[in-house]
Amino acid sequence: MNLLLIGPPGAGKGTQAVRLRERLGIAHLSAGDMLREAVKRATPPGGAARESMDRGDLVGDDLVGEMVEQRLAETDCSRGFVLDGYPRNLAQAGRLAEFMARTGRHLDRVLAIQVPTEELLRRLTGRRVCGKCGAGYHLVSKPPRAGGICDACGSALFQRTDDREDVARGRLLIYENQTRPLLDFYRQHALLREVDGSGSLDEVTGRISEALEEAPR
Ligand code: AMP
Repeated sequence: MNLLLIGPPGAGKGTQAVRLRERLGIAHLSAGDMLREAVKRATPPGGAARESMDRGDLVGDDLVGEMVEQRLAETDCSRGFVLDGYPRNLAQAGRLAEFMARTGRHLDRVLAIQVPTEELLRRLTGRRVCGKCGAGYHLVSKPPRAGGICDACGSALFQRTDDREDVARGRLLIYENQTRPLLDFYRQHALLREVDGSGSLDEVTGRISEALEEAPR
């Protein structure tokens, strides 16, 4: 099964994508994780992406498109995939459609997770990440046992630059202006299911399972 997971930053795409990977035995591709990894490894695409990412802007379509397509061409993706965070605008959606047609594949379903903006801001600005092992925390919903320190490895936690409130607001605006139009695009292709992303992770997982069983609209 080939799936897209669309949603604003903070909607829980990453967590739900991992659950889908485990449940369906398909590959999970996160455009944001791939870009962060490229930045960490100081590869040339990482260097080009870093500034845009820190500002909360989208990185160039060609850069992210090539990265995603290279990954989609790997053998584990032939059994199916869940792509999270790509496409994020209509140009990327067009490019993905061409790539899928060229490689003889098709999308089975596009899941769009919806969460009210104020809730998204609370989620984004409270996020903290371990600088060493990458474990994720939240100041309200999943606080570390000792303030600012990772439970798993004892290293310092930090806030992603793009989770600061000013940058987070900008990212939400980019979602509204550039990514939300994809919902109509995939609705027209009869691939879209919208999922309420409020409530607990398990509640959202339940709604996603139902959405996968129902016909797309
Ligand atoms: P995320 O972890 O999905 O919120 O992505 C973090 C950042 O990576 C975004 O704010 C963008 O700067 C960049 N990014 C992720 N996916 C894309 C994409 N499909 N197109 C352009 N930039 C992206």
